[in-house]
Amino acid sequence: MNFFETHYNGKILLVDAAGSASESMSLESSLVREYLGGAALNRALYDRFRDDDPIVFGTGPLTGGFAPAACLLVATFRSPLTGRITNVPLTLRTGPQVKYAGFDFIVLRKKSSDPKVIVAHNEAVTLSPGETYNGLQLTEMLEQARREFGRPESFVWPGAVTPSLASAATGRGGGFDRRGLAAALAEKNIKALFIYGNDGLPFGADDLVRSDRIIGDMKKNLTKKEVGFAGILDRIGEDQAARAVPRRKVRHMACARCPVPCMSHILVPKGLSGSEGTLLADHLGFAALAKHVGIGVYRLITACNEAGIDPIAVADWLAAGITQEEVLSFIANLVQGKEDNVPTGNRGGDFYGPLSEEDCDFFGGGLPPLYDTADEASIEAWKTRTARAMILGVCPILAARFPMLDAALPSFLADNTEQAKAMEQTLGSLAETVITGT
Ligand code: SF4
Repeated sequence: MNFFETHYNGKILLVDAAGSASESMSLESSLVREYLGGAALNRALYDRFRDDDPIVFGTGPLTGGFAPAACLLVATFRSPLTGRITNVPLTLRTGPQVKYAGFDFIVLRKKSSDPKVIVAHNEAVTLSPGETYNGLQLTEMLEQARREFGRPESFVWPGAVTPSLASAATGRGGGFDRRGLAAALAEKNIKALFIYGNDGLPFGADDLVRSDRIIGDMKKNLTKKEVGFAGILDRIGEDQAARAVPRRKVRHMACARCPVPCMSHILVPKGLSGSEGTLLADHLGFAALAKHVGIGVYRLITACNEAGIDPIAVADWLAAGITQEEVLSFIANLVQGKEDNVPTGNRGGDFYGPLSEEDCDFFGGGLPPLYDTADEASIEAWKTRTARAMILGVCPILAARFPMLDAALPSFLADNTEQAKAMEQTLGSLAETVITGT
């Protein structure tokens, strides 16, 4: 396999949260041969630096290149919520940005005694004082970052509320963290990670042509109804939530290189959301709220995204009889640090049918369950596709929607049939280790 040079920068960035410096080390080709990348290689790095309780942010070999939805960054860490090792997929532009900044993996080690923000530029990282980010909501946080460092190309933000209720966000629509990435960042006293990558991009010579062909095939039988946020709600049977999403005057939003987006920007009538538009990206969070408040979901999801609170935690309060108005004032108090008697709920386990909480650790507990909950084979196939995507550095939602990607994605990393076979074998056994967390 000779994809190492063409798909990676060959660099790991080590960031010491307790200090102010970072250093880079080489990404050994032997490590890539054995673990390929993403969640599998993250785990190897996690184990190497285990004594420092690291959070490992890792790209896959396809991240940032021309493969469909090659947008993924994966965070691997010990969850302060469960004590177990877990992976959280981070989408939008986070993965490509890490590669554009000249790295493949970032290992965040130890704890800071005072609040800090991490700023990753091309081939360097700085740790800056983060006191001014205390208690800031999303819009204020981004404004503060813009003033200090320029508009972030990409970010990971642990939210402004109690870590046990927060969900790490990578954009205005929240994220897929329901396993404590926000809490792990908070434990290290990290207020945000900003990435400003503008360097070149490693990719294979035939990748663009291959990608265009695959994307053409993916779109052949696709209907308009299947594209966008509501398309996913339809697929997972969340009918009530799907009815709350308008099908017209909607702007679908895509992560890097995603041909079939699952996010939508909705213009909501004023008074319903508290803002002119809302980015919908967290399918389960939206569905959980819509179950209780119907169209009132827009006000709540906007407040959740601004505060960085997990909408499913909020849905648990609604289930316990707390009114919408009380929820909004509760969130405001949480942001101001005035509320410490915080009810924590089950954070979404109900959506995954027979999967246990431990089963959900490998994908962060926030992805839409694109499988038939009554069909074991369908569940197993979904788990395998999700794990493979999280190793290759491709969005697991797109990989789960299009089984044709099972063979198409590894084809970017193999030059001949023999290599393809070896790749398939490695990927299969690594996916199993990612799923079981071993
Ligand atoms: S399927 Fe959704 S989350 Fe995945 S890459 Fe496309 S837009 Fe992003």
